[in-house]
Order: sequence, then C-alpha cells, then structure tokens
Amino acid sequence: MVTNSPPARHSAAAASWQQQLAEAIRDPVQLLAELGLEPALLGDAAAVARAQAQFPLRVPRAFVARMRRGDPRDPLLRQVLPLALEQAAVPGFGGDPLGEAAARRAPGLLQKYAGRALLMTTSACAVHCRYCFRRDHDYAQDQASGESGRWEQALARVAADPSIEELILSGGDPLSLGNARLAELVHRVQDMGHVKRLRLHTRTPIVLPARVDQGLLTLLSGAAAQVLVVVHANHAAEIDAEVAGALAALRGTGATLLNQSVLLAGVNDATEALAELSLRLFEAGTLPYYLHLLDPVGGVAHFDVSEARARQLLRELNARLPGYLVPRLVREIAGRPGKTPVSSS
Ligand SMILES: *Cc1c(COP(=O)(O)O)cnc(C)c1O
Ligand code: SF4
Repeated sequence: MVTNSPPARHSAAAASWQQQLAEAIRDPVQLLAELGLEPALLGDAAAVARAQAQFPLRVPRAFVARMRRGDPRDPLLRQVLPLALEQAAVPGFGGDPLGEAAARRAPGLLQKYAGRALLMTTSACAVHCRYCFRRDHDYAQDQASGESGRWEQALARVAADPSIEELILSGGDPLSLGNARLAELVHRVQDMGHVKRLRLHTRTPIVLPARVDQGLLTLLSGAAAQVLVVVHANHAAEIDAEVAGALAALRGTGATLLNQSVLLAGVNDATEALAELSLRLFEAGTLPYYLHLLDPVGGVAHFDVSEARARQLLRELNARLPGYLVPRLVREIAGRPGKTPVSSS
C-alpha cells in the first residue's frame, strides 16, 4: 500500500484493488440512487439500454466517493454516466477519425510517430469514460494480448525495429493487468536494449489509486528503461488525498509523471476548472502535458467544445498560470507526424 495515504474513509479503501474493481458500480440507476439522484436524469430508457449495451457503465466506488451528492451536474458523474443522447447521430462524429487502422503495425501495435510505438496491452479499463475515443473500438479483433499469440507479434515487431526508442503501454489501460503480466512486458522490453523509455498511459491511479501497490512500485523502480507515467485526470476533484498519495509513490520510483486531459463540455470547459486542475496536479508532483480536443467518435458530441472556445480558454490559462502549468492544447489529425498544436491566437 501507499505509505502516505490517509486513513480509510470508506470501507472500499481497505479492499485490494482487484476486489475494488470487482465491486465497481455497473448499473446507472444504482449509481444515481447512491448519489441521491433521480433515474429520469438518464433520458429515454430504451436509448440508455442501447448505450449500456454498446459501452456499459463501469466506475469504481473510490471515484464515486469524490462525486458531490445530489448534484446532477457533477463533473465526475458526467464523465461516466451513460445518457440517452449518446444514441443521437451527429454529422462529423463517427468512423475512424484517428486513422488507427492505417497505423496498425501488428495486432495491438500502433505506430504513428517517429521513435515511439504504442502497444494496446489489454482492452480493459477500471473506468469507462463516456467520451473515450476507444469506446466503440473492436478490441476482440485488435489487441496484442489475444489468447494464443499474447504479445508475441507486436513485441517481435518492436524487437526488429531499433528506431523504436520508446514503447507506450496503453490499452484500454495497462494497469488493468496484474503485476506479473506487467513484469513480463517490462523484462521483454529490457532484453531488447534499444527501447530506452517505457511510458504508461493510464487512468487507473486516478480512479482506483489502490492499484498503485508495492509490487507495481518495486517493478517500476527496478526497470532499466526510463519510466514515464502519463495519468489522465480532467478535473481537480478527481485528485483527493488518496490519489495524491498514489502519485507521490509513483514519483518515488523515479518515474516522470505527466497528465493528459480531454477538454469536455460540462466537465472542465472553464478557465478556473482548468487552472485548479493544473495546480492540484502540481501539488501531487505531476505536470500537465496535453489538453486534447475531443476526438469526434460516435456518441460523444455532447462533450464537444468549439475550437474558438478552446483557444480562448488557453489564452485565459496563459494569463493565469506559470507556463509549466499550461498544458499543450492539441488535436489529433490522422496522417500527421505528431499531435497537432492548437495555438491561443
Ligand atoms: C498520442 C500517441 C502517441 C504519443 O504521442 P506523444 O506526442 O509522444 O505524447 C504515440 N503513438 C500514438 C499512436 C498516439 O496516438
Ligand atoms: S480509461 Fe482511457 S481508454 Fe479507458 S475508457 Fe477511459 S479514456 Fe478510454
């Protein structure tokens, strides 16, 4: 366990991360009831059922504990609650906007940018985020950890390409894997020699901080590669004392800690919310890295923030915070050699 985490405030804090994951809330009506809210908030029941069938609710109780009771507009709730309006077809939202099919190098391995490749280690996540660009990804067909091949084809490809200096473990969420499977990956990569940096893209330390256990810390401390952990928080209220403790423990392994966020209507599309997020992250030893404009996949249009508004927010953030606390506002455009910066002017 994280040594500097606070005393347990709710019973879940004492449970193992696996048990907390098993006890995650999956029923939207139950989630609303626990927050003292009416099921009518969801909208048309048949449409909600379709949204659930496509991408079901999943949220650990440790994350629910940070939501405000009785507030239908709580920014954390909005990120996880399936709504009927996801089913509305909106022009411009859908398909493969990121061009991932073209970037596939082996099952579960994407390479879009020079020097770094991204391994989709697992399809599982501790939380299901409604705005996720992978929400309708066909993982069954495309992930590196399939029953038979495991990561073999993807790792063979990385091993054969000395230009890959950085391997990004993504998913899904790589911290959905247990420490033994992660260790296997870390050691395989170590044996390749040319992979100097190992990066984890993970939201788990934010939504399920108990995942940052001693086994993980020992594994990261001992890795020969330089380790970066890029967490994903969108709102300051996501970072409570237990999360801050988990982040401090990760930093204690020598890893570089960065955060990426998505700019989301009704969650963080206000200068003050973004400023508070950066400040809270910094208090927890984590620098803001990217602020992504929403990827226009199907079902997420209600989270969209216009580019003009995004530029204005960036201008205001620049005027409010030291430069190192202003994330890079970016958009992903298929076929470009890196994320595309969106300037404030
Ligand atoms: C975003 C992304 C990366 C990482 O890009 P950085 O700018 O290095 O953070 C790498 N590979 C893929 C396929 C990506 O989508
Ligand atoms: S944790 Fe990341 S990959 Fe998983 S649902 Fe959320 S945004 Fe998507």
